[in-house]
Amino acid sequence: MNWTEFTRWGEWISSWAARYHSTLRTRPVRAQTKPGDIIKQLPPSPPEAGEAMQVILDDFERIVMPGITHWQHPRFFAYFPANAAPPSVLAEMLVSTIAPQCMLWQTSPAATEMETRMLDWLRQSIALPDTFSGVIQDSASSATLAAVLTMREKALEWTGNQQGLSGQVRLRIYASTEVHSSIDRALWVSGIGQDNLVRIPIVPGRLRSMDPDALEQAIVADIAAGYHPAGVIACTGGTGVGACDDLSAVLTIAHNFGLYSHVDAAWAGAAMICPEYRNLWGGVELADSVVFNPHKWLGAQFDCSAHFIAQPEDLVRTLAIQPEYLKTHGTDGIINYSEWSVPLGRRFRALKLWFLIRSYGLEGLRSRIRNHVNWSEALAGKLQAHEGFELVTEPVLSLFSFRPKDASDQSIIDYVNVINDDGRIYITQTRVDERMAVRFQVGQFDVTESDIDDAFVVLCEMLPAS
Ligand SMILES: *Cc1c(COP(=O)(O)O)cnc(C)c1O
Repeated sequence: MNWTEFTRWGEWISSWAARYHSTLRTRPVRAQTKPGDIIKQLPPSPPEAGEAMQVILDDFERIVMPGITHWQHPRFFAYFPANAAPPSVLAEMLVSTIAPQCMLWQTSPAATEMETRMLDWLRQSIALPDTFSGVIQDSASSATLAAVLTMREKALEWTGNQQGLSGQVRLRIYASTEVHSSIDRALWVSGIGQDNLVRIPIVPGRLRSMDPDALEQAIVADIAAGYHPAGVIACTGGTGVGACDDLSAVLTIAHNFGLYSHVDAAWAGAAMICPEYRNLWGGVELADSVVFNPHKWLGAQFDCSAHFIAQPEDLVRTLAIQPEYLKTHGTDGIINYSEWSVPLGRRFRALKLWFLIRSYGLEGLRSRIRNHVNWSEALAGKLQAHEGFELVTEPVLSLFSFRPKDASDQSIIDYVNVINDDGRIYITQTRVDERMAVRFQVGQFDVTESDIDDAFVVLCEMLPAS
């Protein structure tokens, strides 16, 4: 294809995109295909001769689109959102056109300098102190891994990368029972191991915080047993039902024992652009590392994970490696963000933040999040008042869980499946204190109050006959 033809297809795709968004409500939210439906339509071998773009795009509509779950559908209430606001999509179109590799400052100075500025905009937006520096990671999982590697290297006095872990002191990392599976995986990948992830029980109640006393006792007991405590991982807005650790208490304990601390606020961090929700993470300023995903609720399309670090020197000491081909002689004092993350190659992710924040302004983004929280609370209230339902966990921001009254685990799974097969809304389930519950979050960028009303209708209609 030459770049003249590209104009035609580029225009075709932008009109397709606008049409797609304006007709999303007519599509089932979750793909209605069966395993194998798509792959059997894809030829087993690649073509020897080139094909026309029109043919490829027709096949895209015919083969691919039926197998898509519509994350941008306004009635997407499953998992957490992965919003892609239109200005961020436009920025990504520009980025995929110029396609720079932003591993070093000199491999695109604008990308590095914009990243520095955008992360500082975000830092101010969520009211972290100006002692924090930011970097964009590809995912919260990567940010957490980077934090765990830093915990490991600090605790081993910077010998882990060089010597490996065999024969070293046995490190311990503490987290509640509510944290995301990416924490377990960070311990696997870092070589610290699942057995050294110490699960701290939670205090019963809406916020399901790890019990600070239990944390302190676990650390003391580990020291007495000859282990080497290395870090604490707290969460604000756990994935299951939105657990929020009492950061003041938990991070103070981490501090007192000299442990590196990381806060996973992958989803809930976006809400901290609204001052009235910041009490959920009071004490966050005591953390060494904090991650939140603008690619979830905020509207910057995937991937874009904002990682804030109090002492970037520690992270860089953990991850920087400079073979001769990566040295940038004569440019001291600049930032090479690839030294702040596990992958070397980096996309230009800051541009979509610039487009997003400038187009809506913080006030435009805040009003969406506030609506989502209010609508979620209203829906939880309606379900609670309905004789067919019981609320399992009250809303934390815009996430809550419920179940059809007295429903067994299996009937909850069936209920969720029937609803998702129906297609008008999309929800998922989770386990709360060993029992199954339906999980519901409001957060899609274009969701309206009437979509929430529709969801209530579907939830009632699909109640199992008792
Ligand atoms: C989504 C989520 C993650 C994982 O985020 P990725 O960016 O997909 O790695 C981690 N922790 C929490 C609390 C999350 O909600």
